[in-house]
Amino acid sequence: MFLGTYNAIMNTIEKLEILADAAKYDASCASSGGARKDSSKGKGVGSTGGAGICHSYAPDGRCISLLKVLLTNVCLYDCHYCINRRSSNVRRALFTPEEVVELTLSFYKRNYIEGLFLSSGIVRSADYTMEMVIRVARLLREEHDFRGYIHLKTIPEASPELISEAGKYADRLSINVELPLQKNLKVLAPEKNVTRTREAMQTINSRITETLVTRKEMRRSKSRAKKPTFATGQSTQMIVGADGSHDSDFLKRSEDLYGNFNLRRVYYSAFSPIPEPSVLLPLKSPPLVREHRLYQADWLLRFYDFQVDELTTSEEPDLDLDIDPKLSWALRNRHVFPFDVNSAPLEMLYRIPGLGVRNAQRIVRLRMYHKVGLEDLIKLRVNLKKTMPFMICSDHHPAKLEFSNEDIRLRFSPPPKQMELDFSAPVIGDKVIIENAETVTKLTMEAGKEAMHGEF
Ligand code: SF4
Repeated sequence: MFLGTYNAIMNTIEKLEILADAAKYDASCASSGGARKDSSKGKGVGSTGGAGICHSYAPDGRCISLLKVLLTNVCLYDCHYCINRRSSNVRRALFTPEEVVELTLSFYKRNYIEGLFLSSGIVRSADYTMEMVIRVARLLREEHDFRGYIHLKTIPEASPELISEAGKYADRLSINVELPLQKNLKVLAPEKNVTRTREAMQTINSRITETLVTRKEMRRSKSRAKKPTFATGQSTQMIVGADGSHDSDFLKRSEDLYGNFNLRRVYYSAFSPIPEPSVLLPLKSPPLVREHRLYQADWLLRFYDFQVDELTTSEEPDLDLDIDPKLSWALRNRHVFPFDVNSAPLEMLYRIPGLGVRNAQRIVRLRMYHKVGLEDLIKLRVNLKKTMPFMICSDHHPAKLEFSNEDIRLRFSPPPKQMELDFSAPVIGDKVIIENAETVTKLTMEAGKEAMHGEF
């Protein structure tokens, strides 16, 4: 009766307005890494490859070519940072699975989208909601032979069988961790639990591994039986700046998730104030550059062999907002530099600020033929301004104390800005839980490029 009322009084466009708007706070929708399905031989619809549709990303790296929508913004839970929480006074709507299927297909056929990102508030129960989400994916895949990208947001409280079922139809599954520390979840999202989320991630990870092994065995035995399908990866999102967690807490949680559950990506989404916010939340967003620094640090953990304890320390648990985390580490460890690019092992080259993974590997190949000099580095488009104080090459040796730490920091820090007024932080009892008095800093063009290519 309750849900039927939503359906009866709204048309699809009205529901879409509400539910697409409600989904915009979720950043974990990038579609990279999913296996492409082929519809080029006239079978099925929705192949992103055969139809020549490209992925499209907003300047901050978010994917914008998916239909990103909630099945419903009705929710039994009361997560303080969420606009759809039970106590929020927002307009509610509910799609039927058939309506989402129809929208996806018609948007796809008009070339608006190349896939679907479907999330949902929890209506009736976690299992009931999960069944509706699965029904959308099943109808698309089985009845309409949809071969486009499907990303399903999974509810950790749903039964493992349903989570496994969702994976059969999706290219990507994700479960949002939301906050890195259980003690803060208890305050801001009392119904959520890190342990349950980890268990659900374990279910997905085991199914991904099993499917890969089975497919490999079938390929080896040249079996003609239908190969099992399952999502090729999982991801998660954490909200930055909604609680008092330090950057080290975020990075430790990410290290745990990448290491134990093989996550494809952890997304960091700067908290944005929502209409009618809870009194437990800060009044303004954290500086966007904090999100950016976390992405850079995450990149260093995954591709540059850095550890969290190297990027943050107990004295400085937050990343430096003025300079990137690799340069910050190098300045703290100045005594180990300079490294000779003609003899240092690859892992040491990764640590030179301004030298990315690809260029470090190119240098290693190049030095097998001749001594690497500045001209080679210019050809490789290495960021010499950043690199030179930290490396030796055939025609460059940084004179001792040529650049002091302060000089280098000044060269790469953004110009000073007027401090913004900070409004008082929210308090629980007599304890301040949010600290957000930071200078708002614009991302520089250089930092933007780094974010896109991960070379820094
Ligand atoms: S469970 Fe999800 S939709 Fe519901 S209040 Fe929490 S974050 Fe929002």
